[in-house]
Formats: sequence, structure tokens, C-alpha cells
Amino acid sequence: MTDCLFCKIIEKKVPAKIAYEDDKVLAFHDISPQAPTHILLIPKKHIASINDLPEQDSAIIGYLHLIAKKLAQELKIDQSGFRLVINNGLDAGQAVSHIHWHVLGGRKLQWPPG
Ligand code: AMP
Ligand code: ZN
Repeated sequence: MTDCLFCKIIEKKVPAKIAYEDDKVLAFHDISPQAPTHILLIPKKHIASINDLPEQDSAIIGYLHLIAKKLAQELKIDQSGFRLVINNGLDAGQAVSHIHWHVLGGRKLQWPPG
């Protein structure tokens, strides 16, 4: 998608601090971190939101969680605790229409979220 910010990051047209990359997924540091560790994890395939998730892409969703586990271990937040967040749509505050998992950790996170 030419007008998608995260697709541009995948294509390296917009710079980002990459934490993990393979042929299916990309993880990079959030430009405005809300916790000491704040990574965005995305599929390389453009999927706008959970609402647009095709059934045949269920495997990539499982795979993304395994990468989240690996990142949490590498960034040493797996034992202290971390949160995976997907904002979906307007009320949730989704600002970028390319499905993404926030990986947040490194401090005590509040619940419920605002
Ligand atoms: P959301 O509000 O769930 O759509 O999250 C979008 C996230 O993308 C926010 O946490 C932003 O800080 C982050 N963000 C926006 N632009 C960039 C960028 N160029 N590089 C890294 N993160 C970004
Ligand atoms: Zn995209």
C-alpha cells in the first residue's frame, strides 16, 4: 500500500529502529514510546485492522505471537511482564491502518487502560 506509513517502513522508505525482521514480519521501536520498552510488531502483508483480517491469515497471527515471545525474552521483559495491545478502530485510538501489536513493558502497567 503506497500511502501506508507502516508499509513504507517495511519498504525502508521511512526509517525505523528495527528490532526484528524476517520474510513475514517486522518489529520496530515506537517513535513515541509509552513504556521503557515499546515495540510495534506488524505483518509484512498489509492488513488494515482486525476487522479486515482474512480467515486464511490466521497462521500469521499465531506466528506474530511467537515473535512477540521471542522479542520479550530478548528485551528481558518476559519475566517482569509485558502487554500486547491491538488498537482496532476509532474508539480504540487506532491511528495507523496497518494492523500492529504494541509490545509494552519495562514498568508496571496500569489496568484498565484509559
Ligand atoms: P495506534 O494508535 O495503535 O494506531 O499506534 C500507532 C503507533 O505508531 C503509535 O504508538 C505511534 O507512536 C507509532 N508511530 C507513528 N509513526 C511512527 C514511526 N514513523 N515510527 C515508529 N512508530 C510510529
Ligand atoms: Zn500497510
